[in-house]
Amino acid sequence: MSQQQKAVERARKAFRTGRTKPLEYRIAQLKNLQRLFVERQKEIADALKKDLNKSEFGTPLYETLGLEGEINMAISKLAEWAAPRPVTKNLLTISDQVYIHPEPLGVVLIIGAWNYPWAVTIQPLIGAIAAGNAVVIKPSEVCVHTAKAMEDLLPLYIDKEMYPVVTGGVPETQELLKQRFDHIFYTGNCMVGKVIMEAAAKYLTPVTLELGGKSPCYIDKSCDLTIACRRIAWGKFTNCGQTCIAPDYILCDPSIQDRVIEEIKRNVKEFYTEDPKTCPDYGRIINKRHFKRVMALMEDSTVAVGGENDESECYIAPTVLRDVKPEAKVMQEEIFGPLLPILSVGSVDEAIDFINQREKPLALYVFSSDNKLIKRMISETSSGGVLANDCLVHFSVSSLPFGGVGNSGMGCYHGKFTFDQLSHLRGCLVKQLKMEGVNNMRYPPHTAKKLDW
Ligand code: NAD
Repeated sequence: MSQQQKAVERARKAFRTGRTKPLEYRIAQLKNLQRLFVERQKEIADALKKDLNKSEFGTPLYETLGLEGEINMAISKLAEWAAPRPVTKNLLTISDQVYIHPEPLGVVLIIGAWNYPWAVTIQPLIGAIAAGNAVVIKPSEVCVHTAKAMEDLLPLYIDKEMYPVVTGGVPETQELLKQRFDHIFYTGNCMVGKVIMEAAAKYLTPVTLELGGKSPCYIDKSCDLTIACRRIAWGKFTNCGQTCIAPDYILCDPSIQDRVIEEIKRNVKEFYTEDPKTCPDYGRIINKRHFKRVMALMEDSTVAVGGENDESECYIAPTVLRDVKPEAKVMQEEIFGPLLPILSVGSVDEAIDFINQREKPLALYVFSSDNKLIKRMISETSSGGVLANDCLVHFSVSSLPFGGVGNSGMGCYHGKFTFDQLSHLRGCLVKQLKMEGVNNMRYPPHTAKKLDW
């Protein structure tokens, strides 16, 4: 029996004991997880520094504070989320109990990505624990140090039979995918998303796919460019552009391109100094393979800002590309790095057409002072989420569902959405063996007399 198979068997055996059923057990596990983030900040931050050059402040800000908030919310709301939910009844069921009962699915597989490894692996775990599932946790092997930290730390805090951590790369993940799960929650790229879905089909396992894609950012020429470009520069260059909802490219009128470039340049200098390479707040590309991939993307475009790089450190400066054509290499795939191409569109109609001709993105950004234009952009396009006049912050709102649509994914999570996503919402109807008279009409023979109301 392979190691992966053993871990899944153990988790299933633990689940079958029924110990996740009482809410007290789930809350105790969530509190232990909370303690991990309080007590192990240093180990978490050290690993992220080695993996992605994340800064001392970047780690709590982008990884752990949000998780602690989600854990607190799950602990305080669990009784409400897990309680039977009464629903509207019809005439025939008026005197019955009719309700939705959320129940655990069983053994959930969570496969994480490397860019915000704690956030994207632990956030679904919180909801999975709250919903009463056993969980096999598979961190991304690409963030080598963080995967090791998860493997070492999680079993010290949460039930290691119920929530085993399985590490390894593609062969190990493929071995895992041969096993039977009750749900697979995958975060990563679209190509592997298809591999996951294919494997899940064998057992009709439901999946949540948190994928990526090219998230457009439309800047309306009437808006305050100083503020808009400051927010865009932050949204793009945080984590060296390796954010699933980073604005991938800008669409704007050619008349404002130079101003946009100047404003972004000014903000890059303010955020990361004249030399971002020496700035502790500026990250690194995760590895040489991705460094080469991102560098190749700018080959046929004109650099307006940045462009400096150093392969030995996987460093690429915050870079803006001007007058980019839709056929350029940088427009053929999700960039996932610190390159910001600017493309010209003559009007909002053209921007909407441009967006609608491509795959549905994970996020869509629109910067404008015109509310009508914002509403039009929302109603005439589709994306996982949409944000007007800012970047990234919708990820932090637990009351909004977070997820993709079409090529950017399926299913959603955060807050109660994770709980519901990883529960079976079981429809329950409880009748008494009384009042048989009201049922007469449904029993044959269906005579005219019976149907005469
Ligand atoms: P990755 O390479 O770490 O892959 C993710 C996981 O898939 C890993 O655990 C890895 O072991 C596994 N994997 C990789 N190849 C596999 C294969 N052939 N078969 C089975 N398993 C395999 O991460 P990535 O895909 O480079 O992550 C970046 C992508 O993730 C981007 O597209 C980004 O937009 C997306 N992303 C999405 C979200 C979101 O919430 N929607 C969040 C973060 C990242």
